[in-house]
Formats: sequence, C-alpha cells, structure tokens
Amino acid sequence: MEEVQRQRTDLRQSSYKIALKRINPTDGHVELYYISYKEYLLTDVWDKLRKKILQRDGHRCVICNSNHHLHVHHRTYENCGAEDDNDLVTLCSSCHKTFHRIGILK
Ligand SMILES: [Zn+2]
Ligand SMILES: [Zn+2]
Repeated sequence: MEEVQRQRTDLRQSSYKIALKRINPTDGHVELYYISYKEYLLTDVWDKLRKKILQRDGHRCVICNSNHHLHVHHRTYENCGAEDDNDLVTLCSSCHKTFHRIGILK
C-alpha cells in the first residue's frame, strides 16, 4: 500500500485506492475503508472539501480568474482522503485541462 500511496500519476485512470476513516456502527471503533478515486469524488467528504476550497478561492480560477466550469484540482494526491487545504486549488476546466496535458500551470 505504501508505495502505491506515493504514486504521482493521474489517479483517474488508475486503480489507486484511497483510505478513508469511518466509525464502525457495530463496535464504535474507527476503521479504514478503501475506495477508488472516482468513488471518492462522489463522497460527502469530498463534496464538503470541494465547496470549502471554492469558497476560499472566491469561486474563481486561480490562474485566469474565470468563474465558469470550476474544478477543484489536487496539487498532490499524496494526502487523498485527508487533504490539507494547500493540496487543493480551484481551476477552470480549461486551465485544468492544460495542466493535465502539459503538467504545468501558466
Ligand atoms: Zn487536476
Ligand atoms: Zn482558468
């Protein structure tokens, strides 16, 4: 698991699993469960985080200031499931696409 977590490639194409914590309803203990990146993007955890980052960035792309088709981009996937605010940034779909194509932000 450890070496998989350091993987820096685009997770949307990989079978990478993200560890999330939840309380086991039966015994009340915190346990880890694993979901794919795609599934993660559908969770409440991500939804809340996404909204927080959009709000922090004023619902604007940090590169071009557009307020259309905003995405929240992971600057690193290393902390997926327990992201630091600094790991995430708001981008419009066009800057986001550019980033994932050429790997840098202009
Ligand atoms: Zn991205
Ligand atoms: Zn943009």
